[in-house]
Amino acid sequence: RPGLHVVSTPIGNLADVTLRALTTLAAADLVVCEDTRVTSRLTNHYGIEASLVAYNDHNAPRVRPQILERLAQGAAVALVSDAGTPMVSDPGYKLVRDAIEEGIAVSSAPGASAALAALTVAGLPTDRFFFEGFLPPKDGARANRLAELKAVPATLVFYESGPRLAGSLAAMATALGDRAATVARELTKAYETVYRGTLVSLATDFAVAEEPRGEIVVVVGPPVEERASADEMEASLSSALDTLSV
Ligand code: SAM
Repeated sequence: RPGLHVVSTPIGNLADVTLRALTTLAAADLVVCEDTRVTSRLTNHYGIEASLVAYNDHNAPRVRPQILERLAQGAAVALVSDAGTPMVSDPGYKLVRDAIEEGIAVSSAPGASAALAALTVAGLPTDRFFFEGFLPPKDGARANRLAELKAVPATLVFYESGPRLAGSLAAMATALGDRAATVARELTKAYETVYRGTLVSLATDFAVAEEPRGEIVVVVGPPVEERASADEMEASLSSALDTLSV
């Protein structure tokens, strides 16, 4: 089918790809990816002969009009990222936006994303969650961002890297308090490890541990209800009961 197909790919385990993702990639006139070497590992694995074109922050202004031109001519174009779901901390937003503006059909072949995979194993509330992705790299900007997030009444999901993990956990503990938290590393891969604890316990453990390898998601529980508010509630309830019994 002509149009832009946004296709999710595995986040590590090559078996985590949908049948529709594979047929969409095989049928596409053009597969737009971040890095042709990374995506060709997937297409080769499944015996798909795809015409791959690299599209990343570097070349996007030059390549985007060319892709839009192909779409306008009726091509079927698949958009993938190195791993997981395109546009979740990955390129693609402007391509989708411009395609919609030009009246081109945009459809999704959904699949894996590290944020959702981490949420499913974190053991933290999932009724409301807030995806933050990568925090700013500099300490001051990171502290400011965390201060903004403090009042968000939802579980928070962060993307992290091994070298930054210990520092980020310490900054989160300082800014958010000692909330329940989970560090999910190398999900779906051979060395998948899930560490569950609190921000303080995890920050302390990772401060002294060897720097963790691989890819990491940090999931932080929602703000804990203030004990004071429960006490206040009890006080107002008992005064209401007093009034009733008068
Ligand atoms: N688009 C991807 C998605 O849908 O999950 C995310 C791309 S982002 C550039 C890469 C980050 O995702 C990593 O730094 C890590 O935080 C997280 N990530 C990706 N794969 C992961 C995995 N297998 N286990 C844990 N985290 C992962």
